[in-house]
Amino acid sequence: METALSKKRVFRFAPSPNGLLHLGHALSAILNHDLAAACGGRFLLRIEDVDPARSRPEFEAAIYRDLAWLGLDWETPVRRQSEHLGFYAEALEGLKARGLVYPGFLSRAEVRARAAAREAAGGAWPRDPDGAPLYPTEERDLDRQAALARIAAGAQHAWRLDMDKALALMPGPLDWREEGEGPDGETGAVAARPERWGDVMLSRPDAPVSYHLAVVLDDAAQGITDVVRGQDLFHATAVHRLLQALLGLPAPRYRHHGLVPGPDGKKLSKSNRDTGISAYRERGASPADIRALLAGYGFVLH
Ligand code: GLU
Repeated sequence: METALSKKRVFRFAPSPNGLLHLGHALSAILNHDLAAACGGRFLLRIEDVDPARSRPEFEAAIYRDLAWLGLDWETPVRRQSEHLGFYAEALEGLKARGLVYPGFLSRAEVRARAAAREAAGGAWPRDPDGAPLYPTEERDLDRQAALARIAAGAQHAWRLDMDKALALMPGPLDWREEGEGPDGETGAVAARPERWGDVMLSRPDAPVSYHLAVVLDDAAQGITDVVRGQDLFHATAVHRLLQALLGLPAPRYRHHGLVPGPDGKKLSKSNRDTGISAYRERGASPADIRALLAGYGFVLH
């Protein structure tokens, strides 16, 4: 039986604590918070800290400080992904048991070098929507026992989704409901083309679960109905839809918003201290100034 709580729309802001939040994060957080408030929904904060090399406690503390300063409030306890590694590992084991993932032994640097060499020789190497060279498919059918022996001997590897096998399981074309828009104005029912990402990584030794796998598992576990985030993740939604379909998870509605331009017209970066929310605060700006700044860039805040 559905309860009043289960009918509420559920929004989330899901930053990674690997740098200071900037104006683009303020926009995502404010939109999620305000859209939830406008419909009597819930607003959750999730800390995406599965990459131990990049996640730092001081950045997590800064997230709480900056969001509270912006006047946002979120439900507690906050879900921290690092506390749920067993949950993600179980899902990965399920995909392994279905033969949908395989261990890949090439590093990203090796793939980049191969692609560069091919391109230098006048050849072509397919690239994903972010411009990274696709992982070659040659290891898909390596002898599994031999691969496991290499892993047991300490070989660096990542578990990768066999994109062709995964797509072959889909009963029809995948799409998602886009309530915002993509970088090329895509909106409404958007066709998902996960094959553009090739054999995506689902875990690697230094980060037990990839962003893609953790995000779909958590959105489902937390009952997220609405994903509101920057357009930089628009194309990644195709991979999320595929993983949701493979894992039998519901698809939320998506609303991708435009990116806040940096001072030099480039993308804002978490490593630039001057454009961080805290830098605005230290220079005497108020939360209302942040909202006015975002509205000045043309973003409609609700
Ligand atoms: N953790 C991701 C980031 O900080 C965002 C995840 C999402 O909103 O889906 O870029």
